Amino acid sequence: MTSCGSAAGRDKPQRTRTRQRTQAPELSPARLPIAERAEVRRAALHLLRADARAFTAVLALNSLAAIAGLAGPWLVGRIIDEVRAGTGVGTVDRLALAILICSAAQLFLARWASYVGHRFGERTLARVRETFVDRALALPASVVERAGTGDLTARGTADVALVGTTLRDVGPQLLISSVQALFLLGAVIALNPLLGACGLLGFAGIWWALRWYLRRARDGYLAEGAATSDVAEILAATATGSRTVEALRLQRRRVAASRDALETSRRTRFYTLFLRTVFFPAVEVSYLFPVATVLLLGAVLLDRGTMSLGSVVAAALYLQRLSEPLDEILMRVEQLQSSGASFARVEGLAQAPRATDTESPVPADDRIDVTAVRYAYDRGGEVLSDVDLTVRPGERLAVVGPSGAGKTTLSRLLAGVDAPTAGSVTVGGVPVVALGPEQLRRQVVLVTQEHHVFLGTVRDNLRIAEPSATDQDLWAALTAVGADTWVRRLPDGLDTALGDGGHGTDGSQAQQLALARVVLADPHTLILDEATALLDPTTARHTERALAAVLKGRTVIAIAHRLHTAHDADRVAVMESGRLTELGTHDELVAADGAYAALWRSWHGERPAAGGA
Ligand code: ADP
Repeated sequence: MTSCGSAAGRDKPQRTRTRQRTQAPELSPARLPIAERAEVRRAALHLLRADARAFTAVLALNSLAAIAGLAGPWLVGRIIDEVRAGTGVGTVDRLALAILICSAAQLFLARWASYVGHRFGERTLARVRETFVDRALALPASVVERAGTGDLTARGTADVALVGTTLRDVGPQLLISSVQALFLLGAVIALNPLLGACGLLGFAGIWWALRWYLRRARDGYLAEGAATSDVAEILAATATGSRTVEALRLQRRRVAASRDALETSRRTRFYTLFLRTVFFPAVEVSYLFPVATVLLLGAVLLDRGTMSLGSVVAAALYLQRLSEPLDEILMRVEQLQSSGASFARVEGLAQAPRATDTESPVPADDRIDVTAVRYAYDRGGEVLSDVDLTVRPGERLAVVGPSGAGKTTLSRLLAGVDAPTAGSVTVGGVPVVALGPEQLRRQVVLVTQEHHVFLGTVRDNLRIAEPSATDQDLWAALTAVGADTWVRRLPDGLDTALGDGGHGTDGSQAQQLALARVVLADPHTLILDEATALLDPTTARHTERALAAVLKGRTVIAIAHRLHTAHDADRVAVMESGRLTELGTHDELVAADGAYAALWRSWHGERPAAGGA
């Protein structure tokens, strides 16, 4: 009692603080949604229904096992009564043999039930994982970017793993214990309703403790999950931006932010720990009551001759056995609670906006129109204002301008990574952001330096862009970017495993694979961020040739950081402070003697003759 009291006392301030956190959660609008209770319930029922036969089998086998388990105490009671009545040893032996057989049957049925239960759990977990991956892939890039990859990663790893444990172990065990407990209580009631009622009353304490716990647990575990996401998010951001952190000497600030996140995480964990330290001892004490009540009342009934000694013993044995499944249930309910919060986070993805191909509109043609576009990042003022631009199919357009003018932002809107705050960016009359991933890939692709090699074979790496591509298509794409020679030399050709633990690829090979993917996706328009696309000088020569092959026959919008690109383009668009200030051919703009002409002259500063030409 004392330890319980002091634990509660110690945790009080913690609890209030944690509560404030849960009531005013930092669930910013950017965070991915969390499913409501009703939706979680519906999703769980849906999962049960998806494998209804296995679930029914688990339930039936467990019931049979529980019935076999009931025979033991009842037979012990019979033996006591028979011995009291002075029956021969033969009957007692037969009853003892029956106990043995029933125990063996119970063991066998329970094993079988647990086997079927675990298989059910594994299959259902696979279903949850698949749905999660589908939903995660259908998330528009802008949603993921706003929410931060940490949240999505935490949901896909820690949360899905916890849901998995529930489905594999907790769920089946909870089912077994619930069935057992129901049958045991039923047996006591059948022996004597009054004793049964006492048993039930004794469990009122457990009921109270459970309610107290459940009222607080969901919020507690949700806050804990959110804090874990924050830690993951901050660590991931620091790790991926480590160069920036070092360059700007942000180490101290990042460490402080990590420490804050860890502190919050520690606090939320302490709160849930506090809930457990109150809940479990309360339950332990509540167990003793029913058995004690039944023994006391049983003695009175025995004294009055209303019940035989055998029946009282059987009832006491049932109730004493009841503590085992109940213990299990309570412990599992605790786990169920925390994994319920996880399931709510996993299911939350269902409410996030989706970019799907089934509802995706089909563009009428290849024309790209930017109309009255304004854009502001979540934190910050307007970075694009009243941008109007039409890109003709097959055109090469270079976008130039000083750093911070909004060129990259414009390229993100053109590629459908983000939606404009006002106005529209359309391809063939359809807003780019409304296109499903498959449709979008055939229209517009953003080419950057981010050439990730995925874990899998060369074939897997290429088919990401076009799942229906044949080997012939793959080889054609590899040849187009000049990668066919080295791929042919790989030990297993297209089947060679790449990525961690597989065949290592260097920078230019990785970039060639990325470009081969572009060839396979076959979009009519490429957005080329030159700042990032051609940074690596050692790979530049290889890549430039490959890139030329990829660009051929497509509309190209190049964010030009070197003016010679602009010189070679069909038209040049000049951006300044979020506005499109000049648009025309190189010659026209030089002749107009505006901002572009100034840029061109300063770039050619060392050769004044060229500037004048
Ligand atoms: P450019 O590519 O021409 O250098 P950007 O499009 O990158 O210009 O940036 C335009 C403006 O938007 C800049 O003022 C920049 O600071 C701001 N900006 C860019 N990215 C973000 C972001 N993720 N959040 C807030 N502001 C941003």
